[in-house]
Amino acid sequence: MTASSELKLNTIDTAAPKIARSHKNYKIVPARYPMRTISTIFAAIIISLILYSIFTNPRWGWDIFAEWFFSEPVLVGLSRTILLTIIGTILGSFFGTLLALARVSKSPLLSGSSWAYIWFLRSIPLIVLLLLLNNLGYLYESVKISNPFTGEALIDYPIVTLLTPFAAAIIGLTLNQSAFFAEIIRGGILSVDNGQHEAAAALGLPQKRQAFKIVLPQAMRSILPTGFNEIIGLAKGTSMLYVLALPELFYTVQVIYRRNLEVIPLLMVATIWYLVIMTVLSIIQHYIERHYSRGVVRTQSSLPFQNKIDQLISFIFNKRSKIALHQKIKQELSFNDPNLKGVKKTKGAPIKIDNVSKSFGNNKVLNNINLYLPAGSVTAIIGPSGSGKSTLLRSINHLERIDEGFITVNNDFIGYRKQGDTLFELKEKEILKQRIDIAMVFQNFNLFPHMTVLENIIEAPIQTKNMKYEDAVASAFNLLSRVGLLDKAYSYPRQLSGGQQQRVAIARALALQPKVILFDEPTSALDPELVGEVLEIIKELALTGTTLVVVTHEINFAYEIADTIIFMESGNIIEKGSPEAVFHNPQHQRTQDFLNKVL
Ligand code: ADP
Ligand code: MG
Repeated sequence: MTASSELKLNTIDTAAPKIARSHKNYKIVPARYPMRTISTIFAAIIISLILYSIFTNPRWGWDIFAEWFFSEPVLVGLSRTILLTIIGTILGSFFGTLLALARVSKSPLLSGSSWAYIWFLRSIPLIVLLLLLNNLGYLYESVKISNPFTGEALIDYPIVTLLTPFAAAIIGLTLNQSAFFAEIIRGGILSVDNGQHEAAAALGLPQKRQAFKIVLPQAMRSILPTGFNEIIGLAKGTSMLYVLALPELFYTVQVIYRRNLEVIPLLMVATIWYLVIMTVLSIIQHYIERHYSRGVVRTQSSLPFQNKIDQLISFIFNKRSKIALHQKIKQELSFNDPNLKGVKKTKGAPIKIDNVSKSFGNNKVLNNINLYLPAGSVTAIIGPSGSGKSTLLRSINHLERIDEGFITVNNDFIGYRKQGDTLFELKEKEILKQRIDIAMVFQNFNLFPHMTVLENIIEAPIQTKNMKYEDAVASAFNLLSRVGLLDKAYSYPRQLSGGQQQRVAIARALALQPKVILFDEPTSALDPELVGEVLEIIKELALTGTTLVVVTHEINFAYEIADTIIFMESGNIIEKGSPEAVFHNPQHQRTQDFLNKVL
């Protein structure tokens, strides 16, 4: 370093505190955007010109507009338009949801028929569909139901009286909308992270509950913007019903201007009313979107009237009395009870893995694995990435289907029911029941982001074990106090740190009082300083008698808690033994190489 640079450094060093002291005297000059100002002025001029022309050109006929805007026939037409929009939306989204669920179902017949329906109805223009329905009377004269034995007619209605223009309109709009809604809802379902499906399945939640409580509410976020687009399209699309001579808003206006020949003022009547409908719909959309975004952002800004709406919602759903009930439950619990905090013995289950193999295509991921993990044992699985650790773990609760061999937990065959010497493959519904005893904690936590911490924990016990609400809440508070998060019961997962989220995920797994808990790299997604708090809880669990299987890269932790270490590589168990044996005296070179790398 030269003398001059040294000198410079010194002057800077001594000057620094002076600058810091004068911070509050700084003047802040906001950034200027001249182009923005110019374009704003330009836009203002254009808007004023348009408004000027609209209100000064007498041919717009605003006096005639005023005369008709609130007239009775227009209001009747308007109410019909609104009614049709509401019915079309309700029926369309109902059948659309069913179609979307059918489309993503595993049954080829269901998904194929749904695809065909959507293909067909999206292809036909609405106006053609409406005309077809209107003329159905030419094809079929009547609807007839007769007694097949005597031939005596029980019901016999002519189509023309049955299919009024209004009925044809409802059917046409519903058929058309459900096809479009179905695709929007399917898109929403596909946008939900696969981890959510897996977490719900691992908790053993019934399929219907998974769809309507876990997947669809999360799908709503991507469904709503396009869905509302579709509803707005529907509201406008009702104007097409004039072909059925159904006096909705547009048809009514047409009838009037054909009589008085004031075309422009009456079209403006319709235009302004459509604008009003769209504005109301946009406002509703805004509030509903906000409702479904709960838990997604860390802090939410308030909308106008938000307090009133929140109050109304908590009144409808009885939330206040629920929180009062929670307070009461909390008071009755004595958290100082040593049985709660400390070691609570539970009965674990033995796991037997028998000649298990599994391939993904040509890639043999598990190669004839044999393993016995006694009840209450703590096993740590280590090994390089891609060696099949996750696949083995996921096979134990049948999130992964094995190709060969068998796995039993507590002597029950996973995925099968044994009767004599025959194994009957279980249906998804029965597999979900098997999973209740086998909890799983994921690397990415997979908490349900749209539910509070408390709701995440009580969901599975109530749904799968028919636990009473009060009991589930009491048990949830116990568990939360055990993982040190009692004060976070009403937080949403995204408002928690990673370590806290994983502790909630562990509490959620424990709520089912499982006999086996599988951990797949529970601390890999955590910042280093948060790893400890999660390992601490697992360490406590290791003393409870529950069978634990932990895939981990935390060698020290594995050394401390595990009674057996398994080293896997390329789908094979290379080495198995006590922590002392495997870590201090590995028998295989490959184990030694791996340990050299990670230690
Ligand atoms: P580990 O957990 O030990 O890192 P995994 O059990 O996740 O390893 O994966 C083992 C191998 O199986 C990897 O080569 C991985 O690419 C492959 N694999 C895992 N899941 C799938 C899947 N769903 N489809 C295809 N290949 C998969
Ligand atoms: Mg893995």
